Amino acid sequence: MARKFFVGGNFKMNGTISSIKEIVNNLNNANLDPSIEVVIAPPSLYLLLVRENLRPEIEVAAQNVFDKPNGAFTGEISVTQLKDSKINWTILGHSERRTILKESDAVVSQKTKFATDNGVSVIWCCGESLEEREAGRTIEVVSSQLEALKAENPDWSKIVIAYEPIWAIGTGKVATTEQAQEVHKAIRDWLKGVSDKVADETRILYGGSVSEKNCGELSKQPDIDGFLVGGASLKPAFVDIINCKKQ
Ligand code: PEP
Repeated sequence: MARKFFVGGNFKMNGTISSIKEIVNNLNNANLDPSIEVVIAPPSLYLLLVRENLRPEIEVAAQNVFDKPNGAFTGEISVTQLKDSKINWTILGHSERRTILKESDAVVSQKTKFATDNGVSVIWCCGESLEEREAGRTIEVVSSQLEALKAENPDWSKIVIAYEPIWAIGTGKVATTEQAQEVHKAIRDWLKGVSDKVADETRILYGGSVSEKNCGELSKQPDIDGFLVGGASLKPAFVDIINCKKQ
């Protein structure tokens, strides 16, 4: 099955009403390759603003969601609230949440299970630190993050995997096409242990300093099915990344 190329934009904790409206207007007026699936993730405060103003074929994602239906969980947002606001996606397990907010593999997996079981699709992030890469542990680390997810038996048809080496995020230091393809292939091989169908159909995105300059080459790799873009998703050049297959 041909996997639909996917480009996600993670705004992280950036933007104001005015700058986010500008990004939305830019996307609304852009000539976007219709064969690409695009999802953008503004900070939670601006989810509704974006959903109400963005062209409907672009989906909107939260950057996090909790794993309880509702109740006394101060500061959290529920899957029900996302769906009520027509936010059909969330990012989970971003390395900034794993490292700074100390979210464990188990917590990320439980949130992913709850979201997918309740109708919200997940951009599920994984990746190794520089220390782990240098110790030759990249595949081991990513596999153990995947094992924790598999243990929860999530709905894989609602998951897009984003491989994001931590050392490449926000550093301007992009993985080489060979480094990225090697890990993407290993993830696809690992997915065969879930099922051939899941391995064949799951999109595996690369994330880490993707720009309009490096996206063309990366997009040609057989196991790279798209990108999760941080810094560059705040810039007009995000449109060039979405249209990278035309380069
Ligand atoms: C990210 O935060 O998911 C990311 C990949 O960031 P950047 O593109 O800025 O490296």
